[in-house]
Amino acid sequence: MHTPLCRHAVGEPTEYAAQAAKLGLTEIGFTEHAPMPEEDFDDWRMLESELDLYQEKLDQAEQDHPGLTIRRSLEIDYLPEYENWIKNLAKRYRWDYLIGSVHYIGDKWSFDHPDKRDSWEGKDLNQVWKEYYCRLVDSVSLGVFDIIGHCDLIKVFGDRPDGDLSHLWRPFLEAVKQSDIAIEINTGGLQKPCGEMYPEPALLEMAAEMGVGLTFGSDAHKPERVGDHFDAAVALAKRSGFTEYRRFAGGQYESVPF
Ligand SMILES: [Zn+2]
Ligand SMILES: [Zn+2]
Repeated sequence: MHTPLCRHAVGEPTEYAAQAAKLGLTEIGFTEHAPMPEEDFDDWRMLESELDLYQEKLDQAEQDHPGLTIRRSLEIDYLPEYENWIKNLAKRYRWDYLIGSVHYIGDKWSFDHPDKRDSWEGKDLNQVWKEYYCRLVDSVSLGVFDIIGHCDLIKVFGDRPDGDLSHLWRPFLEAVKQSDIAIEINTGGLQKPCGEMYPEPALLEMAAEMGVGLTFGSDAHKPERVGDHFDAAVALAKRSGFTEYRRFAGGQYESVPF
């Protein structure tokens, strides 16, 4: 879940926590878009100078909701040129877990930006998807992330090559399995033009068969979306063949059977 620090989410962490408590959730995690070294890298993430403020906002949510466990995390953008920066971010606080996400491919192409739909014009879909999955594999190889975020975000506008994509998914999922990290079912996709959760069911089935770890995320950018469609997400996980999911604390995970 996000906070106003990223400039495109609304509601303070304590409001997300209130909503979680109202829904009967016992544990939530904040994964704000992590800073980049350049303050003008883009305009949809917190700044490096706001990292302490982020922690304070989470402290406040904890104080206001003592019955709720609040996990501290970041959603970190993976770009190959920023590997040292990412490793350094990972060491700054005792994060409970870290999500690695690819929102940029090619020459800093922000392929999922809602205002940049036109940037897809003339793209070779096979090439774009191949590049996206190559970058996901590189993000796993960095060895910093516990969870790879929304691992078919590239479908966000509904541009998907036809047919079987297992040749793209398999090397990625093998890397995830080998690193003993997790993918997530992210219900945020339901709000996007693609109209479905990330990732698609066939990818999930392959992941379950390979024994890949799984978590759940709402990717909430406003308090009303906390835990959104989690019943459907759990049902999807079970239907895909998963028998357990992962919980994180202090950089370690435990597997919890359904
Ligand atoms: Zn966001
Ligand atoms: Zn994301």
